[in-house]
Amino acid sequence: MEENKIILGSKDLPRAWYNLLAEIGEEMAPPLHPVTKKPVEEKDLAPIFPKALIEQEMSKEPWIEIPEEVLNIYQLWRPTPLKRARNLEKYLKTPARIYYKDESVSPAGSHKPNTAIAQAYYNKQAGITRLATETGAGQWGSALSLACNFFGLKCTVYMVKISFEQKPFRKSLMQIWGGEVFASPSSRTEAGKRILAENPETNGSLGIAISEAVEDAATNEDTNYALGSVLNHVILHQSIIGLETAKQLQLIEEKPDILIGCVGGGSNFGGFVAPFAGEMLRGEKEYKLIAVEPASCPTLTKGVYTYDFGDTVGLTPLLLMHTLGHKYEPPGIHAGGLRYHGDAPIVSHLVHKKLVTPVAYPQTKCFEAAHLFAQTEGVIPAPETSHAIRAAIDEALKCKERGEEKSIVFCFSGHGHFDLKAYDDFLAGKLQDYLHPEEKIKEALQFVPKV
Ligand SMILES: *Cc1c(COP(=O)(O)O)cnc(C)c1O
Repeated sequence: MEENKIILGSKDLPRAWYNLLAEIGEEMAPPLHPVTKKPVEEKDLAPIFPKALIEQEMSKEPWIEIPEEVLNIYQLWRPTPLKRARNLEKYLKTPARIYYKDESVSPAGSHKPNTAIAQAYYNKQAGITRLATETGAGQWGSALSLACNFFGLKCTVYMVKISFEQKPFRKSLMQIWGGEVFASPSSRTEAGKRILAENPETNGSLGIAISEAVEDAATNEDTNYALGSVLNHVILHQSIIGLETAKQLQLIEEKPDILIGCVGGGSNFGGFVAPFAGEMLRGEKEYKLIAVEPASCPTLTKGVYTYDFGDTVGLTPLLLMHTLGHKYEPPGIHAGGLRYHGDAPIVSHLVHKKLVTPVAYPQTKCFEAAHLFAQTEGVIPAPETSHAIRAAIDEALKCKERGEEKSIVFCFSGHGHFDLKAYDDFLAGKLQDYLHPEEKIKEALQFVPKV
């Protein structure tokens, strides 16, 4: 029997997160206050985040110990398996070796609990009793509900109205784990009320839902806000993916040539490549790191590298990142988790330094890859994950053309069990691609603030 699955035991679970920020050092541009445009200080963030997470956001320590309570919950599904996709290799007739790190085995079905658990823990330690957040397709909302459930915190989720109506089962997950879910815009916040008064029929958007959750947290003493991607502390927590992957590859004496991940806000990609990018920053090793995004929201490939707001309304600190402009509204593709106008400052920095190669794909090409993956390897990928699979397949095909025996490793960020409607549309030939929205991007870029 050929070995297909590289498994670590509980004893091998990493005991510290790896902080890429320490490696980047002084070159990392600070977040700026939205009004004064001066670097953000701890007191600016204190109304919505606990001290421990603010410290992690700015920390230059290379290793940060994972608390025992967090490890105990990680152990329910971590370490996650690294699998070799031999059937896919055979189907493609490629000399390349293809591996994937399977983050879909978490209870919520994605990598997102890696940070949700840590964030809930530090908030609980700080005496907070409730977390407020936004969710688009529902993956982050379900991960945070799960985490709050473990630590006895209440969880309030503002879910983009169109998803609230179209994806009832993600809402069920949140409710099973004790989260309360409101369609956003809601009449619970001033921001929501204002938008409903202007347009009662609105579908809502991630930007609006963020504004509601931040307002809820800022106006309630016992409540904090939690963000599922983009920020430095989120990528720190997600580094557990990369640390385990590095161990697993070592175990089979495999040196990866190409590492691939899909990018929405950059957290699964950033965490997955963290230890490898660290080696590159130290000048020790060379890897090809590929970040894959949707062609309809081409932040890294077509955006500008500049300071911009994290939300639509313009309440959050300004971050130096690749952005399409905070007013950019991407078309409604099925990979809801990849529809974000900006990108993590850490990932943007790596792209800017040319350590990461960004590529963009239209959704039909990604669904073709996902369908092939489901038929060869059995697992049904999330529409977000299908982007990484597309790039992995294309790299494997290049290896075939050139007769190169490279090792390709990608992050399988989540399963698609709650996205079957998207697969139905794909199988019925009803999926459409959106042309590169050049005009809309140009329009949105006008609103990027001058710093
Ligand atoms: C949220 C999500 C993403 C995108 O978010 P990142 O922060 O870029 O990782 C990708 N895949 C899955 C399965 C997700 O749930």
